[in-house]
Amino acid sequence: MMEFKNVTVAGSGVLGSQIAYQTAFKGFNVSVYDINDEALNKAKERITKLKEVYKADMSATDADVDSAFGRISFNSDLAKAVENADLVIEAIPEVVSIKTDFYEKLGQVAPEKTVFATNSSTLLPSQFAEATGRPAKFLALHFANEIWKNNTAEVMKHPGTDESVFNEVIEFAKAIGMVALPLHKEQPGYILNSLLVPFLDAGQTLLAREIADVETIDKTWMIGTGAPLGPFAILDVVGVTTAYNIVSAKAQATGNPEAQKVADLLKEEYIDKGKLGRETGEGFYKYPNPAFAQPDFLK
Ligand code: NAD
Repeated sequence: MMEFKNVTVAGSGVLGSQIAYQTAFKGFNVSVYDINDEALNKAKERITKLKEVYKADMSATDADVDSAFGRISFNSDLAKAVENADLVIEAIPEVVSIKTDFYEKLGQVAPEKTVFATNSSTLLPSQFAEATGRPAKFLALHFANEIWKNNTAEVMKHPGTDESVFNEVIEFAKAIGMVALPLHKEQPGYILNSLLVPFLDAGQTLLAREIADVETIDKTWMIGTGAPLGPFAILDVVGVTTAYNIVSAKAQATGNPEAQKVADLLKEEYIDKGKLGRETGEGFYKYPNPAFAQPDFLK
């Protein structure tokens, strides 16, 4: 049985603010921790903006969004921020030294019962398990951006995570409106990016090798699998810059000439021409009426 009532969210940036508001919206008491008042004021602004978003996207009433906001407190004193916490969700910068230092301090001031969860996208929980001082009560709980509608929660154990803690966090994720996705072993990139990154990579490689053009590659995937988007339509959502950062890091790390070819193509043909994806109105497709959404695209 999940008995969490009080949740502390540490780090109130893009994801932390969303996690805090979603958790409060579902009736939990939330304490937001960040390093100073300036950061906390930014969080208050971010969370206030979310009220309008929840009204528009979730049909929430004024009373719903105000009472959710009322369940959130803000604190820059770590010991105070976690004094009643059943669960701490960490969403601080993706930097190993910052996270290690945070967990060492947190482990000393949090009550013994408190479970810790990291929202890290690329780092594994086993990297921080010892620093927490309570490896059995530590695991990963990974959300997607725009948590209220992209409601996946990948819940991932490290080898030392207690099974009952794993199950409690799965129940918590469901209680805040997420679809809980259990990962029984550590996996870099969790499930989603373990599938998505190689898939997008394969599409870009076909293009860089000049095997086929963007539309033909997407069309093949869409007709062949019934999927609503092909790899390049998805890349436009992710953003071409992110795709470029991933592939150029791979090219540098491995010296793989094919990865370099993809990186050069993305830079010269897209980034340098301001075609950064859906957000800028053009990437592999032009928006708001991209070719792949036209009725005859699949014919
Ligand atoms: P962000 O930069 O928007 O926010 C980080 C916050 O942490 C800031 O408010 C900062 O003041 C605060 N902070 C810095 N040092 C701190 C410390 N020592 N203690 C407490 N707070 C501290 O970052 P973000 O995009 O919200 O990412 C946070 C985490 O969430 C990362 O681990 C990232 O991998 C993960 N994540 C991000 C996304 C995304 O789409 N942005 C999606 C899923 C997971």
